[in-house]
Amino acid sequence: MTVARMLFDFDDTYARDVPALSVPWSAAPAPHPELLVLNEGLAAELGVDPAALREPAGVALLTGHGLPDGVVPVAQAYAGHQFGGYVPRLGDGRALLLGEVTDTAGRRRDLHLKGSGRTPFARGGDGRAAVGPMLREYLMGEANHALGIPTTRALSVVATGEEVLREEGPLPGAVLCRVAASHLRVGTFQYAAASGDLDVLRALADHAIARHHPAAGDGPDRYLRLYRHVVDAQAELVSRWMLVGFVHGVLNTDNTTISGETIDYGPCAYMDAFDPATVFSSIDHAGRYAYGNQPGIVQWNLARLGEALLPLIDADADAAVEAATAVLSGFAETYRRHWARGSAAKLGLAEPDPDLVTDLLELMRAQRVDFTTFFRALSAGTARSLFAEPEPFDAWAARREALLPADRAAVAAAMDRVNPVYVPRNHLVEQALTEATAGDTTSFRQLLDVLARPFDERPGLQRYAEPAPAGCPPHVTYCGT
Ligand code: AMP
Ligand code: MG
Repeated sequence: MTVARMLFDFDDTYARDVPALSVPWSAAPAPHPELLVLNEGLAAELGVDPAALREPAGVALLTGHGLPDGVVPVAQAYAGHQFGGYVPRLGDGRALLLGEVTDTAGRRRDLHLKGSGRTPFARGGDGRAAVGPMLREYLMGEANHALGIPTTRALSVVATGEEVLREEGPLPGAVLCRVAASHLRVGTFQYAAASGDLDVLRALADHAIARHHPAAGDGPDRYLRLYRHVVDAQAELVSRWMLVGFVHGVLNTDNTTISGETIDYGPCAYMDAFDPATVFSSIDHAGRYAYGNQPGIVQWNLARLGEALLPLIDADADAAVEAATAVLSGFAETYRRHWARGSAAKLGLAEPDPDLVTDLLELMRAQRVDFTTFFRALSAGTARSLFAEPEPFDAWAARREALLPADRAAVAAAMDRVNPVYVPRNHLVEQALTEATAGDTTSFRQLLDVLARPFDERPGLQRYAEPAPAGCPPHVTYCGT
């Protein structure tokens, strides 16, 4: 029995259920692996002893080496619309699915490597990843998880000891181990549909139902019900992003999951001053993936999923389109419901009041008020000072005041349970990653620690609650990580 077998008992239902949608492949060598960060809480969830993962055999496993006999990683195939343009063959160009494990709560989770070397899907890329972007994925995923947002999470980042060539020069390389409910994406369905083999598409859909949406049941209508479940899960997910000011940054169909988890933290960032036009990504010139466009874009991505599912929904093409369209039209209402409920909670209201929310956001946009700071200041009674011109805010605050429940202390406490004090502030994230890339992970660990309890205001952490100091250049994020 190898050590890896003792660490994880891998299953491979994806590779077996839909063999046409992956290629067996091995990780590139990582000759001098160094464990930079290990997610001990997540390791415990997976039922594995963190100390064992820190051993050489554990670290090797986290780079795809020393796997138990019979465990064969695969590179997964998928297609995708990238910035609206269809690419028929994307796939894991630098990633591998190690296998599936059952966690201590009985849930099936994927263990997946990113930066583990070129695969047959690599196209032009080098198959590798740099320390900074992998630590960034780790941090942003943990921050979102702590905020209650469904997300993939990083188990570890291991420096490979090798250099990766990027535009800015050679950078230290790394492999991230990602844990996800699955890596099924809208793009996986697009790829299966484009193969023209209905059996492959059906097997994929049945795998997705078994894994994520068993409530879809069986019978010929199950694929339409699967679609409805994905639409609902994604509508809820994007509402949660919107409620905390998260900008994903690259909402291509291959980055939209079937499980409803956030995936692929590349050029993502948290918005400071409220502005629906907020874009961070250096390549998103048209603002396609701006904060305010996210619900519409996710809906668009789900339309692509609907198209892929059509042949399963009904043999009659017109009937299939009609049924899928009806499901997709539910997205807006589901989104609105989650947003209305969530924004009411942010304001301390018992009932949603869409006009009050819309008017507030317009005030915040016009006066460039920090999105995160505002809601905590509102519960503390200090929000007025955030407005350069406070009169319009006063009028708005009077309207809100009239709607509040009588017990104001309870209102404030409830607001503070949904409005974070700490989100990953761009300037602090950049500073932590720069230092970590140079070999010092102290700031990174401190930031991770702060973000693990985002609602819990603690003395001495004020600087983590503040936006970048005035005069800081606007934050820009980069793809191709
Ligand atoms: P992402 O931007 O991470 O969603 O990746 C989009 C596509 O580009 C996927 O097919 C990836 O596998 C591929 N890709 C990204 N970076 C690399 C890289 N360094 N080497 C090979 N393929 C990559
Ligand atoms: Mg991706």
